[in-house]
Amino acid sequence: MADRTSDSQPALAPRALRPEDFRGRAVLVTGGAGFIGSHLVDALIERGARVRVLDNLSNGRRENLSDAARAVDFDFLEGDLRDAETCRRACAGVSWVFHQAALGSVPRSMKDPATSFAVNVSGTANVFAAARDAGATRVVYASSSSVYGDSTRLPKREGEEGRPVSPYALSKKMDEQLAEIFGSCFGMELIGLRYFNVYGPRQDPDGPYAAVIPLFFRAALRDEPALIHGDGTQTRDFTFVGDAVAANLLAATAPAESCGRAYNVAAGRRTSLLELSRAIREIVGEAPPPRHGPPRPGDVPHSLADLSDAGRLLGYRPSVVLEEGLRRSVSHYRGLATTEAGAERPVSAASRKDIR
Ligand code: NAD
Repeated sequence: MADRTSDSQPALAPRALRPEDFRGRAVLVTGGAGFIGSHLVDALIERGARVRVLDNLSNGRRENLSDAARAVDFDFLEGDLRDAETCRRACAGVSWVFHQAALGSVPRSMKDPATSFAVNVSGTANVFAAARDAGATRVVYASSSSVYGDSTRLPKREGEEGRPVSPYALSKKMDEQLAEIFGSCFGMELIGLRYFNVYGPRQDPDGPYAAVIPLFFRAALRDEPALIHGDGTQTRDFTFVGDAVAANLLAATAPAESCGRAYNVAAGRRTSLLELSRAIREIVGEAPPPRHGPPRPGDVPHSLADLSDAGRLLGYRPSVVLEEGLRRSVSHYRGLATTEAGAERPVSAASRKDIR
């Protein structure tokens, strides 16, 4: 068996398409008005792609696409993944599908599991079927580190998953199983990306299901203590959004032999919530230390990705360390803080240069 920890001898076959060149290619980004999706849209437009977005704006924002909307070859389709006909319209004429749309958040899936399954599983089946019917070249879809579930092994390696511990985690595991079936039954090329705690500009601190980094930034900028669920020793592998975008472009252009499975996408470093809170307070300036609440059900204690497969078979290497990624994110949160103080919401595309 191959040494999984060694990536010193890349086994990548030549790519049919370079990740930096999508000139004239027709692509669909589902969830393209969301956090990760909108950065991917910008990157694809910058590389010359003709981009269509399907999004129902349930969590995404039109202003995330304000730059993209000025591009000649950009098309926004407001619609829902749960409608098969909408997915067919979205996939028509498209060669690459980047499926990012989903209802994120473990707590949301605990509160309303049926809707999380309807969007994340049935919606994904609709997208895969529409991509098949449109004859799409490849589908790259968002999975999640949550598929590792109750496995306590670190680092998390593909092939060593535990049992899912939340409806959200199960929905992403089911997406991976769907992808396997679409690959084996219909000969499609699909690649899943198991994102580990992605962060960066445009990630929203609003709403009950906001992620930890936006919440910590907002608390620090308001000079309030951030809330940590549990004692704060739990660790995460925080991934800058520019690296998640790079992984999508690499997966879309990787040799066919790399298809038919999912890969970890992360920074490859573990940070506790206490360390994260300290780093954000240092970047923002003076801010009070965090307060602690009860642990949240469904949360995993520790997370750290093994990136050897993603490195060897996709050519993925994380390029932004946490401190740098946080520095590139702070202006976004300062802008939002200004908005709260009465100014107009800033156009987040102003942060485009920050994600490269
Ligand atoms: P996001 O909420 O910002 O983006 C998701 C987008 O999907 C939103 O624009 C939303 O409006 C859209 N959407 C939701 N339901 C829809 C529906 N029924 N029809 C059409 N559009 C719909 O989330 P994100 O953080 O950008 O996450 C993107 C993907 O990555 C998701 O699949 C998520 O599960 C996955 N993921 C994210 C992270 C992370 O840390 N951000 C970690 C693991 C996995």
